[in-house]
Amino acid sequence: MKYIASISFGKDSLAMLLRLIEENKPLDEVVFYDTGMEFECIYKLRDKILPILKEHKIKYTELRPKEPFFYTMFYKPVKKKDGSSANGYSWCGGRCRWGTTEKLKALEKYSKGNYEYVGIAYDEPQRLNKERKGNKLFPLAEWEMTEKDCLKYCYDKGFNWNENGIELYSILDRVSCWCCANKNLKELKNYYKYLPFYWGKLKELQSKTSRPMKYNKYTVFDLEERFKNEK
Ligand code: SF4
Repeated sequence: MKYIASISFGKDSLAMLLRLIEENKPLDEVVFYDTGMEFECIYKLRDKILPILKEHKIKYTELRPKEPFFYTMFYKPVKKKDGSSANGYSWCGGRCRWGTTEKLKALEKYSKGNYEYVGIAYDEPQRLNKERKGNKLFPLAEWEMTEKDCLKYCYDKGFNWNENGIELYSILDRVSCWCCANKNLKELKNYYKYLPFYWGKLKELQSKTSRPMKYNKYTVFDLEERFKNEK
């Protein structure tokens, strides 16, 4: 059986990877599932890590959605629960996390029959309990590394999530897909204030779907009005 690490290049999985390498733990392969909707800094981090993997003779594999994220979001013919049809699932997040479902299935299929390192921090007991199955290994929990410890570990090793001069972890709780409808209002306001490029991209997406991004109630345009007035 091989030892595979699932890496998203967020702070927890990156800290896990760096420490696995540092402690010379068994590690044959690193797998990154690229949704195609990652922040630019995630791809930069990946490119910084690749030579390190090469140096340690660790194989690197990238998985992708079967169809591009954008297509599934807006164009894929889908049947709704009420029997009607639609083009695309619209925003991913909340109860309709179609992107996560596909990602987890793909990673599970790929790692089947092997040991899989998963980067869930020590202070996420609910997620840990939910995921404890099969051949999954949780080194961060073993090392008692909290989310805060993971971030510090990455910073100390010279890794950050710099997006046009803004450190993403200083304004976002999670660095996941930039278009994630799970982003909370505080995070979205920070997009509006500090990440105008991505805010513009969210507006573009919103203009393609009638479903409001947040709570099925507020469109990105509604939120912009709200944030302007909160200034
Ligand atoms: S991070 Fe958000 S948008 Fe990306 S796959 Fe997960 S739920 Fe969907």
